[in-house]
Amino acid sequence: MNVPEITEAEIDARYRILDRDAEEGGYHLNPDVAFTRNLVRGLLVNERRYGYMACPCRIATGNKAEDLDIICPCDYRDPDLNEYGACYCALYVSGDVLAQKAPVRSIPERRPSRAERKKARQEQATGGMVQTAYPVWRCRVCGYLCAMDNPPLVCPICKAKQERFERFL
Ligand code: SF4
Repeated sequence: MNVPEITEAEIDARYRILDRDAEEGGYHLNPDVAFTRNLVRGLLVNERRYGYMACPCRIATGNKAEDLDIICPCDYRDPDLNEYGACYCALYVSGDVLAQKAPVRSIPERRPSRAERKKARQEQATGGMVQTAYPVWRCRVCGYLCAMDNPPLVCPICKAKQERFERFL
């Protein structure tokens, strides 16, 4: 599939949005601006190709339901930030890495295999639910929980979209 050229202005605009959202949510983009802009370019290419910002460091299928866990910010960002000081692509870094108190280390892929993900989805679909007055929704990206009829349109903590919430209870 031919993907139209991403302009520098588009990268600038998205970089600013991601940077603002990250800082508002207590996250940080990698301070290596050239490196980070390159990842932003990859995100924009994937957004154009698939209609969503699939992770630029992983191979997306183009099937949104299957790729949901790797739409940036992915489900694995926070565990990787906690354990390694950066997400798998190193687009996001921890405060310690930002302050140069810790190096960025190599980060192993923690995304389960396709078969494991499929099994987990099936188990979740067939698992029993505890009865509560309101359904409880969990943001798969940052773990934010809320009890309401429907999940919020945007996670107030990490800005992930509504589609990234899962029924928790
Ligand atoms: S947060 Fe996840 S999806 Fe986004 S760039 Fe980092 S590893 Fe890729």
